[in-house]
Amino acid sequence: MADKRDYYDVLGVGRSAGQDEIKSAYRKLARTLHPDVNPGDATAEDKFKEVAEAYEVLSDQQKRGQYDRFGHSMPGMGGGGAGQQGFGGFEDLFSTFFGDQFAGGGGRRAGGPQRGQDIEVAIDVTLEEAFNGGSKDINIPRVEACSTCSGSGAKAGSKPETCTACGGAGQVRQQQSLGFMTVQNVVPCVRCGGRGQTIKDPCTGCGGKGRVQKQSKITVPIMPGIDEGMTVPLRGEGHTGAMGGPSGDLYAVFRVKEHDRFVRDGHDLYISVSISFVQAALGAQLSVLGIDGREIPVTIPEGTQPEAQFTLRGHGMPDVRRPQQKGNLIVVAHVVTPTRLSDVERQKLEEFAELRGDQSHHHASEQRTMWDRFKRVLRGED
Ligand SMILES: [Zn+2]
Ligand SMILES: [Zn+2]
Repeated sequence: MADKRDYYDVLGVGRSAGQDEIKSAYRKLARTLHPDVNPGDATAEDKFKEVAEAYEVLSDQQKRGQYDRFGHSMPGMGGGGAGQQGFGGFEDLFSTFFGDQFAGGGGRRAGGPQRGQDIEVAIDVTLEEAFNGGSKDINIPRVEACSTCSGSGAKAGSKPETCTACGGAGQVRQQQSLGFMTVQNVVPCVRCGGRGQTIKDPCTGCGGKGRVQKQSKITVPIMPGIDEGMTVPLRGEGHTGAMGGPSGDLYAVFRVKEHDRFVRDGHDLYISVSISFVQAALGAQLSVLGIDGREIPVTIPEGTQPEAQFTLRGHGMPDVRRPQQKGNLIVVAHVVTPTRLSDVERQKLEEFAELRGDQSHHHASEQRTMWDRFKRVLRGED
């Protein structure tokens, strides 16, 4: 435990970082280090645990304050094992959800109103859905206020009573001796768990917790132009907070399925169109089916070389910020050489070759350059 890294260093944030910055740093790291992404990689797993532990502490105001004062020897951490029991809920990041169902579990100390946990959901959409936008209904298990007692936790007809130990404040003063000094802390009242109220007859619907886990239907908006990995926050759609605390947020992380005809590169779409070598030589009028389902005319000029590209402006994907603005559809001409010739065809081609004096120009290098460039573009290297 001696060589434990500083939690701020682990997350790569400054000491004055706000909660949003800490959360986003954690998210970024968790995504790349999660065991599901690195199966069998022990280093990644250790790093992930380290990151989860740092987040567990820094995301909690109280623990963060203690950590700032005492470092890794902070009280109540059992010698620095904060993460061990703390991040069970984070394991499920990629299996759609994370966060424990009930804030207050997971090693977090109960005390007063607490913000509900966030939920992260992966939303799979087709390229067409990403183009058109719309919405998707999802069913997720979520902690919500108990409808029987409206969240009060008290049985119907009864009411919570003011806690006699703290007078309703939910907090009590406590002196803590830390060797050479005495720290006075305001800590949550043990009797009422920080609620300020006690319940004599607990609600039968929720056992007095005021919250229950439910299967909830949530409508997630799909913005036109949404791209792989984009995260859309739905404020207040996470788990309901404890003791009247605000609800957490829901983060919809989008995944766009691969398309069998189009390859996406940001706002641009690529499509490969097969043309015969005769069409390539003489030119042709074709049409391609766009992502919007409409036929778009394409002019193949005479003398088209293999893998030549033709840009159809405005037939690509919408810009997620300005959906009226669309990228381009790039048609890549795939020139097909016939493999079986009839006697007549062979004769005609031989006549043609004779007419041309059987020239065999070598444009291979030029074509290679073009193909290489195309590949680079598709791989996002250009
Ligand atoms: Zn209830
Ligand atoms: Zn109390």
